[in-house]
Amino acid sequence: IWEYAPAPESRDIANLKPNYRMFVDGQFVEGEGEPLKSVNPSTEEVLAEVSTAGSADVDRAVKAARRAYDKVWGRMPGAERAKYLFRIARLIQERGRELAVLESLDNGKPIKESRDVDVPTAAAHFFYHAGWADKLDYAGYGPDPRPLGVAGQVIPWNFPLLMLAWKIAPALACGNTVVLKPAETTPLTALVFAEICQQAGLPAGVVNILPGAGDVGSEIVNHAGINKVAFTGSTEVGKLIQRSLAGTGKKLTLELGGKAANIVFDDAPVDQAVEGIVNGIFFNQGHVCCAGSRLLVQESIVDEVMEKLRYRVSTLRIGDALDKNTDIGAINSKEQLAKIRELTASGEAEGADRWSSSCPLPDKGFFFAPTVFSNVHQAMRIAREEIFGPVLSVLTFRTPDEAVAKANNTPYGLSAGIWTEKGSRILWMSQKLRAGVVWANTFNRFDPTAPFGGYQESGFGREGGRAGLEAYLDV
Ligand code: NAD
Repeated sequence: IWEYAPAPESRDIANLKPNYRMFVDGQFVEGEGEPLKSVNPSTEEVLAEVSTAGSADVDRAVKAARRAYDKVWGRMPGAERAKYLFRIARLIQERGRELAVLESLDNGKPIKESRDVDVPTAAAHFFYHAGWADKLDYAGYGPDPRPLGVAGQVIPWNFPLLMLAWKIAPALACGNTVVLKPAETTPLTALVFAEICQQAGLPAGVVNILPGAGDVGSEIVNHAGINKVAFTGSTEVGKLIQRSLAGTGKKLTLELGGKAANIVFDDAPVDQAVEGIVNGIFFNQGHVCCAGSRLLVQESIVDEVMEKLRYRVSTLRIGDALDKNTDIGAINSKEQLAKIRELTASGEAEGADRWSSSCPLPDKGFFFAPTVFSNVHQAMRIAREEIFGPVLSVLTFRTPDEAVAKANNTPYGLSAGIWTEKGSRILWMSQKLRAGVVWANTFNRFDPTAPFGGYQESGFGREGGRAGLEAYLDV
């Protein structure tokens, strides 16, 4: 299986440029910050140099967004805003192959995922929110729902374009303008998105994209001209932001980490559940906030599930993100790879049984073989901490009550999965599980019509659906 290597998707499609500049007030400009180098995690080569923002750039971007809000966007009828959002959605589709290849180069995710999930779902978010822009009056918010003003948005590296879409589409639909910072390891598709804004004729200043590290994110969220902050990233940074905004009156939504339980009952069709388990934790190298990283299996079927699971994982192909047959691409950065190694080492040290796929790894690049830990106890770090990599921890349970207790034994609460033939059990479990999303007989399904977000330390606020609009409106 591993030796079959079809032609990779051509990297020329990405239209890679040697330099990318930030996008402020409708123009691409050099930033005052130290340029950063974006690296291809599949090969460790530098893809491009990207200018980053300094304090003065943040100030310029926030002021441009304010002007655009006051003079144009905040006053524009919803039906007019909708036209821009539809245009952006169409342009994402038209430039879909370019965006998919660029995303895979910059992030390391398999091309079949960026092509079939990230890019179409990003377009779907713009289509969906375009549909809301002229209907906010009818959404039950009262006669005159108002935008908040300028939104400061900070996103992580695991779904660079998709997280951008989750942030920008609802903000614009509701009449806000934005200053967004992509993650430092994956800034490229956000800057192609800026080109799309220009192509769509979006008025200058409505969208501003400022690459940079955490300090730039901090300057944006703490800038006095920002009315609303939307952050997706680690729980640690989310807490820092929450503290720094205390007393400022700024509205805040946080989409943070997770440690989701994927729960398999003994009446579930095992082959189907195994596919769901694999998708749950190995999709996007496990760099997924809602990844099903804790597998809870009913004790009576654990041997059968483990045997089928190991076989299925051993057939996953690991390699260059641009290879169309790659199932598991590269870990996004050297730092993330080190974090995954450290946590898996702790699992062994704490006495769990480690099994890893023997699929050969490429010589260069940041790769990690898919790994399954069995004999895991709830107190172990691999059962409690978010690994954010292709590592699954398997625990067992006997009764539905025990499954609920173990699933809820976490400070997080972003998502959960249930595999069972019993509809009544699905309904009962989904009431008991403290998670913002509960999937039944599927996992990692994303749809713009469905609100997504967390409980507890996974954050608050929703993105998507009608509930997602509330984060960007005063009623
Ligand atoms: P991170 O918190 O380190 O970084 C996220 C973003 O915040 C980056 O753009 C970073 O530059 C910026 N940042 C860092 N310090 C900052 C500060 N002090 N002020 C403002 N911005 C700052 O997280 P990461 O490692 O990039 O992403 C992985 C994390 O994101 C995981 O914990 C994952 O679960 C979470 N995540 C959550 C969701 C969700 O919807 N809940 C989705 C994707 C990822």
